[in-house]
Amino acid sequence: MLVYHLPGTFETREDHLNLLWEAGATGLEERAGLIRAYFDEQTPLPDAVRDGEWRQEADQDWLAEFKANLRPVQAGRVTIVPPWLRAGVPDGQVGLVIEPGMAFGTGHHATTRMAVEALSALNLHGRTVLDVGTGSGVLAIAAALLGAGYALGVDIDPITIPIAQENARDNGVPAGRAAFMVGTLGDELPGDVVADGVFDVLVANLYAELHDLLAGAYVGHLRPGGPLVLTGILSGKLPLVLGALEREGFTDVTVREDGEWALVTARAGA
Ligand code: SAM
Repeated sequence: MLVYHLPGTFETREDHLNLLWEAGATGLEERAGLIRAYFDEQTPLPDAVRDGEWRQEADQDWLAEFKANLRPVQAGRVTIVPPWLRAGVPDGQVGLVIEPGMAFGTGHHATTRMAVEALSALNLHGRTVLDVGTGSGVLAIAAALLGAGYALGVDIDPITIPIAQENARDNGVPAGRAAFMVGTLGDELPGDVVADGVFDVLVANLYAELHDLLAGAYVGHLRPGGPLVLTGILSGKLPLVLGALEREGFTDVTVREDGEWALVTARAGA
């Protein structure tokens, strides 16, 4: 791999990056004040970027490195692992296998981890669970593995649905226990298991503004007294979510924070 190392300065950075692109760089990276430009072959460069140095470096397989660095994630009674670390699930833990891919939700983000922890603290046996913004399906699948009778994951991004279905299959969760559909609250949900669209538990890892918008719909899809688990909330935006829950009559509100992220639990009013 051929890399051109060029010391960067704040003032010239943009110009230098543009010149390197124009000279045929196949990739650009900045590390510790140094611009690293990748080239297929040594190329004549304009004067303004000639202060650097060509270096031949060992090829690096970034994907392999990323995968090698993935560790199991423990979230309450659940340990989330990629397929090649299945054997790393400790005895007594529920193993949840997620293939890291294009859909959000490998378990490595604080919000996913906190949501799985919150689900694992509930008694889900035989319950119905609605997962809004399912991504990789991680929360719906966690619910099914924790005993839920039926979990439905919905997501506006169609790319997530086959990924979530495949992850459910990989975890041995039958299609009748975890289903996935493109859509959001307000769309018609499949009525085969939950005919009235009212679930025992609702979990959503979205963002604060959307929780505020959807809070009324959460009430409509949750049985009275049913637990609500919301995350994807930046701590600074907690007041928006707490205000929405109060407005919609939710009770027993709790907040958990991890770094800049927050998770809120509550119960639908009776
Ligand atoms: N549930 C997974 C987890 O906890 O790791 C993924 C959460 S990811 C932060 C948010 C997901 O919500 C994305 O897959 C996105 O496409 C989806 N999403 C965004 N807005 C939505 C909406 N209005 N209704 C349903 N899904 C939505």
